Amino acid sequence: MNLALWLDRAGRGDPNRPALGLGPRVLRSYGDMAGRVARLACALRGFGLDPGDRVAVVAKNSPDYVEVLYAIWHAGLAAVPANAKLHGAELGYILEQSGARICFASDGLDGEVAPHAPKSLERLVVIGGTEYEKLFASEPVAVVPRSGDDLAWLFYTSGTTGRPKGAMLTHKVLAAASAAYTAEVDTLLPGDPLLHAAPMSHGSGLYMMAYVMRCGVNVVPESGGFEPDEIFSQFRAWPRTSMFAAPTMVKRLVESAAECPSENIRTIIYGGAPMYVEDARKALDRFGPRLAQIYGQGESPMTITVLTKDEVACRGHPRWTERLASVGRPFRCVEVMVANGSDTPLPVGQTGEILCRGETVMAGYWRNREASEAALRGGYLHTGDVGAFDADGYLTLKDRSKDLIISGGSNIYPREVEEVLLKHAGVREASVIGRPDREWGEVVVAFVVGDAPAAELDALCLSSIARFKRPKDYVFVEALPKNNYGKILKTELRAVDGRRSTPRNGG
Ligand code: AMP
Repeated sequence: MNLALWLDRAGRGDPNRPALGLGPRVLRSYGDMAGRVARLACALRGFGLDPGDRVAVVAKNSPDYVEVLYAIWHAGLAAVPANAKLHGAELGYILEQSGARICFASDGLDGEVAPHAPKSLERLVVIGGTEYEKLFASEPVAVVPRSGDDLAWLFYTSGTTGRPKGAMLTHKVLAAASAAYTAEVDTLLPGDPLLHAAPMSHGSGLYMMAYVMRCGVNVVPESGGFEPDEIFSQFRAWPRTSMFAAPTMVKRLVESAAECPSENIRTIIYGGAPMYVEDARKALDRFGPRLAQIYGQGESPMTITVLTKDEVACRGHPRWTERLASVGRPFRCVEVMVANGSDTPLPVGQTGEILCRGETVMAGYWRNREASEAALRGGYLHTGDVGAFDADGYLTLKDRSKDLIISGGSNIYPREVEEVLLKHAGVREASVIGRPDREWGEVVVAFVVGDAPAAELDALCLSSIARFKRPKDYVFVEALPKNNYGKILKTELRAVDGRRSTPRNGG
């Protein structure tokens, strides 16, 4: 089934319902949007593209983003939404690897793409430009039939190391992820708004289809970006708003002094990176019982485990803190197991790699057989994440093995130390790494954003974790290095630390 059918049907059956919002207002109804998409799809077909051909999108968040993606699907093509903040050379790599024949780019970003465009790219269309507007003059065409196994979205992994790989998300994968979302995260009603505050190429865009499926409204802030004041005014204008936000974004909202009409928030879905218990508590204090967590990855979009709003808010539960530190329980539509190196399931409490199988798992990596076979061996997605189940079925992620610190032969999980440091009111952010050490193998080093005195942090650690886990050094910094999706780059921290702790010649 082609995902575009949801929009096509809404255009016919619910033409007057709002479909797209910009800032505080409704921009288009389902009738308008479906009509525009059918015309844009006709223009795309007129470019001589064959079903399955890739069309890239390098764009900032905007209502056009939704229309362009749907037109691509309507025309039977596959979308390649690339992160607009990437460097031109990185975008060039994605365009070349995906073999995209056309690229839609926001005004301004076309200049970034053009110098790096590979030969395979036939056309660069500027969204909102004259050529783009003319495309809507075409005659509407019918949705091109696609099977569930056909490619819909090539999702390039953010790749904190190495080249990004294109996870092949089929129509079936995205339909299953959308159904799982409405069934288990946020039950949607027609007219419910989704605010796109995170990039539509990634975290936020994947939620778009569930809203079209249920005749909700995809709303984009006028700035196309993320500013707490603007987000709060969006909540004011759009009651029952839900929004996906990376933990760093939630933190910025919590810390904003602006007034937030929390009663208008339906759900803030956080995920994509670890949320510390202390930060989750503060978010609950600020926004009330309106937070849910998901754990997923490009290879199984939005759908591996979920910690529901009720579970996040259930302060009275005896294991509430542990649950808040977990990523919840598996979605009903997937099997999740924690396995050893030979893919044998491990008992409750034991730590191993997280494997996942089900309808939401990608079909493989685009044009990368070796990586596909490795990631999907034995029919399970090997997430590369490490974790353990508790007796109640809640999964807790541990630090990735490359982040684990081994000091004096003992394993130290950075997150455990970070959780303690964040309890200090003078710590805004903390990230813990291992520094190579002749005597201990590695010693713990904490990078801290804030003004807490090191002695107080040391005392705090001594009061709650084993002596050997406490940092031997505190490095106070203005900000932590993060990638475009808000993930802390520990590789970079290790490099910074290496430069700091290696004595310079003659210095
Ligand atoms: P991406 O494919 O770029 O969305 O990144 C997916 C990765 O982000 C996962 O493999 C996890 O390492 C991490 N991640 C996703 N959701 C969570 C979460 N709720 N808590 C902690 N880490 C997460």
